[in-house]
Amino acid sequence: MMSPRNLPLFGWSSVGRWTLFGTMACIAASISFTLLAFGDLSGELALRILISAVALPIIIGAPLFFYFSMRMRGLAIANARLGRVARTDSLTSCLNRGAFTSHINAWLRAPAAASCGALLMIDADNFKSINDLYGHDKGDEALTVIARAIRSVLRNGDIVGRMGGEEFGVFLPGVTQHQAQLVAERIRAAVNAAEFSPHGEPRPLSVSIGGAAFSETTSFTQLFRIADQRLYGAKHAGRNTAAVVQVEDHPTINLQRTA
Ligand code: GH3
Ligand code: MG
Ligand code: MG
Repeated sequence: MMSPRNLPLFGWSSVGRWTLFGTMACIAASISFTLLAFGDLSGELALRILISAVALPIIIGAPLFFYFSMRMRGLAIANARLGRVARTDSLTSCLNRGAFTSHINAWLRAPAAASCGALLMIDADNFKSINDLYGHDKGDEALTVIARAIRSVLRNGDIVGRMGGEEFGVFLPGVTQHQAQLVAERIRAAVNAAEFSPHGEPRPLSVSIGGAAFSETTSFTQLFRIADQRLYGAKHAGRNTAAVVQVEDHPTINLQRTA
């Protein structure tokens, strides 16, 4: 993804380029106009007119181009920051649901994308009891702990989003079903091991994970539906478990989702 620093309008070099080339364009226009209007003059007067045709764009144009390119740089930075805020879940700093979904859709549609990967759906176990026992603010803290634990086992290029409430999604490009199952297990173990001590008492956290791995063209909707069904299965299997299936082997079944 493009970071603000490498967007074309952010760099100081682009400010310099705009100032230099803008001023040179003004000088060229000024000289052309001068030659057209005063081309028949000669001697010292012609020289003076030519010098002012060069000097004026430098004196007036250069500061103006510098000022406007600085303003454009400022606007581009502010715009990128706003975009980042709009894509990010403020509590956990993961992508929000909309951004997560559109990243995956873009990845699945990209012609150069690896032909396999997996989507994991992760739901915190018995989370309501954390809120009930320790209060909503401690529940929020637990969510940030879970998000950190999830991120701690992912590679660069994996995508993590908060789907809403106490539910997260992870997209693993280029992995097989076996590798996705290993990552899901690692996430589960990392959440189990994460430190969460509301009111000084350690309280173990756990998540259930359902996953859908693919090795053929697929859609986010299909991956989501199958991963969600596996998550439902993981809850029914007693929670704190992870199950990743291959999409092509598991057409969706009609389960009622309650997790
Ligand atoms: P299960 O193991 O079946 O998933 O049980 P659960 O208690 O996690 O599931 P349930 O759907 O019954 O409860 C989810 C709870 O998550 C209820 C809701 O108050 C809490 N929750 C959702 N979003 C947030 C949040 O942003 N902050 C806090 N503190 N709690 C949240
Ligand atoms: Mg839950
Ligand atoms: Mg839930």
